[in-house]
Amino acid sequence: MLFPVFARAREKARQTTCLSNLKQIGLGLEMYSQDYDECLPDEYRPSCGGYAEVIQPYVRNSDIFVCPSQGGETHVSYGFPEWNIQAAAYFGVITAIDIPSPCDVIMLAENWSSWYSTRDPAHSFAFPPDGNVAWDRHNGGANYLFVDGHVKWLKKMQTYSPVCMWWPWPHAPTSLCSGRQE
Ligand SMILES: [Zn+2]
Ligand SMILES: [Zn+2]
Repeated sequence: MLFPVFARAREKARQTTCLSNLKQIGLGLEMYSQDYDECLPDEYRPSCGGYAEVIQPYVRNSDIFVCPSQGGETHVSYGFPEWNIQAAAYFGVITAIDIPSPCDVIMLAENWSSWYSTRDPAHSFAFPPDGNVAWDRHNGGANYLFVDGHVKWLKKMQTYSPVCMWWPWPHAPTSLCSGRQE
């Protein structure tokens, strides 16, 4: 049996690797969007491989799509939130310039399953009940990539308050989310 201090240190190392994965994926997404008129890939049909295949030529590494704390048969541990999926469904493409405040809008979040979008319970049909978000995968929080390319570890409620990071366009607060101003 591992002493708790070693287990914690090991989990901390995984958390750091995961954060670095997201940073590299963010660079891949940025290069992709530069080549495609600022368009971001979408995850409309994630079971076909989704964004991880689309940006593979830019990152040339499939290991970075798997969080070391998830493991198993997973191929992709990070997914786009519902805003990306819905924008893709309605407009065909979504571009980085459509996002008014790129520094506080989540681009990729850790999830449980790559078979559907990274649904959070405040903005989409929540399945499973707390959404397809791995809220506490690393020491009570999870890692996130933002539209501007920076990465950060956050606890669940920090993604909803003081500003909602799950939906880029103005909306009213709810019991879970603080909403977003014009
Ligand atoms: Zn992770
Ligand atoms: Zn919101």
